[in-house]
Amino acid sequence: MYKNRIEIIKKHLEVNNSQTTNNKDEVLEKELFNSIDTNINVGELKLLIDSVEESKYKDETREFIRNHPKFKENFIGLDMATYRQLVLEQCAAIANRGLIHFTDIKNNLHRYIGALEMFALYNNNILTKLSVQYTLFGGPIIFLGTSRHEKYIEDANTLKTMGCFAMTEIGHGSNVRGIETTAHYDKQTKEFIIHSPTPTSEKFWIGCAYLHATYAVVFANLIIDGTNYGIHAFIVPLRCPKSGAIMKGITIKDCGHKLGLNGIDNGQIRFDQVRIPRENLLNKYSDVSEDGVYKSQFNTPIKNFAATMSPFIVGRMAITKGCSGAAKTSLSIAIEFSHIRKQFGPSSNKELPLITLSSQQRRLMAPLARTILFDLYIQRLTNELCQEKLPASIHAHCSGIKAVYSWFCVAALQTCREACGGQGYRSANRIAEFKNDCDIICTYEGDNTVLMQQLAKYLLGVKQKQTNTTTNRIYLDGEDAKSLFFNFSNINQLFETREEMRLAELKQIIDNSKESAYFAFNNAIPWAVKLGFAHMTKIVFQNSINTLKLKNVKPLTHLIMLDALVSIEEDLGWFVSNHLISPNVAQSIPFLIQDLCFEVTKVSKQIIASFDIPENCKPSSKDLISDLF
Ligand SMILES: Cc1cc2nc3c(=O)[nH]c(=O)nc-3n(C[C@H](O)[C@H](O)[C@H](O)COP(=O)(O)OP(=O)(O)OC[C@H]3O[C@@H](n4cnc5c(N)ncnc54)[C@H](O)[C@@H]3O)c2cc1C
Repeated sequence: MYKNRIEIIKKHLEVNNSQTTNNKDEVLEKELFNSIDTNINVGELKLLIDSVEESKYKDETREFIRNHPKFKENFIGLDMATYRQLVLEQCAAIANRGLIHFTDIKNNLHRYIGALEMFALYNNNILTKLSVQYTLFGGPIIFLGTSRHEKYIEDANTLKTMGCFAMTEIGHGSNVRGIETTAHYDKQTKEFIIHSPTPTSEKFWIGCAYLHATYAVVFANLIIDGTNYGIHAFIVPLRCPKSGAIMKGITIKDCGHKLGLNGIDNGQIRFDQVRIPRENLLNKYSDVSEDGVYKSQFNTPIKNFAATMSPFIVGRMAITKGCSGAAKTSLSIAIEFSHIRKQFGPSSNKELPLITLSSQQRRLMAPLARTILFDLYIQRLTNELCQEKLPASIHAHCSGIKAVYSWFCVAALQTCREACGGQGYRSANRIAEFKNDCDIICTYEGDNTVLMQQLAKYLLGVKQKQTNTTTNRIYLDGEDAKSLFFNFSNINQLFETREEMRLAELKQIIDNSKESAYFAFNNAIPWAVKLGFAHMTKIVFQNSINTLKLKNVKPLTHLIMLDALVSIEEDLGWFVSNHLISPNVAQSIPFLIQDLCFEVTKVSKQIIASFDIPENCKPSSKDLISDLF
């Protein structure tokens, strides 16, 4: 016991000796010891959150949402058919205004991503419908197609024709490689025959398929003379472009009413020997010659499959904007309400606003901080996606942020709902709709638990290639907890060390397993998920610090520290039991968090003002009740 303690203190001293003083850090950290500067430059903060690259597009979109008549129509409580029609008309209005373009995902990602986030401030149905058209249908055409597929772009850009993305089947969702749909090549007619060979092979959940899609990008097993070359993407006409009639051999059913997103026409599709021209294979990486010879840039179907999945990266980023928009609007509603709504007070005739309650400050300021820091991290990923050569980490990090942001968003929306009491439950007050619509972000575009495993596998792979380097372990102990925590270097070391230990732990569980590789990893999934969280927390924190050092926009320092301490508190048992934080110091964390929440609350109105949310994205009355009388 004592030996262990001496060892820890020794390591602690080693850390202190090796630490170099970073003046810039110290200046920034100093702010945390004083009262927050309430003189917030809302315009500067808005630009930081919007990003320089996206700011112009976001403002154009805000203007459009504020003024377009289709965005003034009520959508609460609409029946499914009317809602689907309204969402279609809203999307058509967006396309006709030219706010986004079909090729943006390749040529102007900032415009696309920026506009989507603004539409998500309003409603996640619009973001979903646009994502289906521009990333799920557009992505494969742009990234997997060649010049012979450019003919689809013009009409798709204005939504004259719409498309969908048909990957999921009744029998296979997360395990995409298990899909059964076939695409046999017929040399005689030079056609592919798209077929659903079993009931479980029918495509299911396909957004936009039931009513509006003319084309589907269908994922199917490419088969020539009995040889299966793996999953490829094909453009399959579902409806006649002129008459809209469903094509021969295709059956489409409605997936029915859902928990949310009822403005989206999800459909079930069965293909019965549907013939399409050979040219409808999206052939950037692999092709079939007229006489049936298969040629691929890759030597294995798995590599071809990985390339076929590449458009998903942008899709995940796009869908993550749904979390950002929903969280920002819902937090704004809850915070505005809390500043107005009065309950209880020091005397019977003096009630105080809810925001004066420590619990209300805690439950709303912590998610407010995290939303902004996640958004800053997405800015970085978007910039990475715009680079000529994508970093090796991009796929794993897009998967990671999609998972952690959507899980966080679902919890934050619940918090906002509760923070508004019964009024949060009323559909007219908007949070309820966001809650129902955003729930599915945890599942579609890759189930979160599956995505976290992709991230963990990437990290294991990186570790395998690295020579053994470890961060000096830190042990936070002492009388002055504030000084220990209000120190970016210490926080960074905590996060670095946790990730290293989580990674080593996962590797050890897998290495020690006597089972096959599949089951060895399978038995370790909960640890893989924990590693994913540890990694994402670290890189979001590091990105926030880098942003802060480039430009100290108030109150970023406070937001970063608040979120860091909340992250530590979320895993406090682990930090203490692994001797990174002493039990004594650990006890001070809730107090430090509460103090920071108190400080951030002072500028909470300015922070939400910086979101610049169009009024028609929010309830008609700020007190959430004055529309009742
Ligand atoms: C509203 C909506 C819209 C959609 N739109 C489309 C669309 O336009 N096009 C399209 O192709 N698809 C679409 N989907 C399908 C969506 O992508 C799938 O639902 C998703 O991939 C998950 O598949 P699944 O539902 O079959 O769940 P499953 O894969 O069966 O998963 C069920 C549960 O098992 C867990 N699980 C599964 N595998 C693992 C694993 N290896 N490790 C740990 N846990 C695991 C999951 O975490 C989950 O909790 C949509 C779905 C919905 C609900």
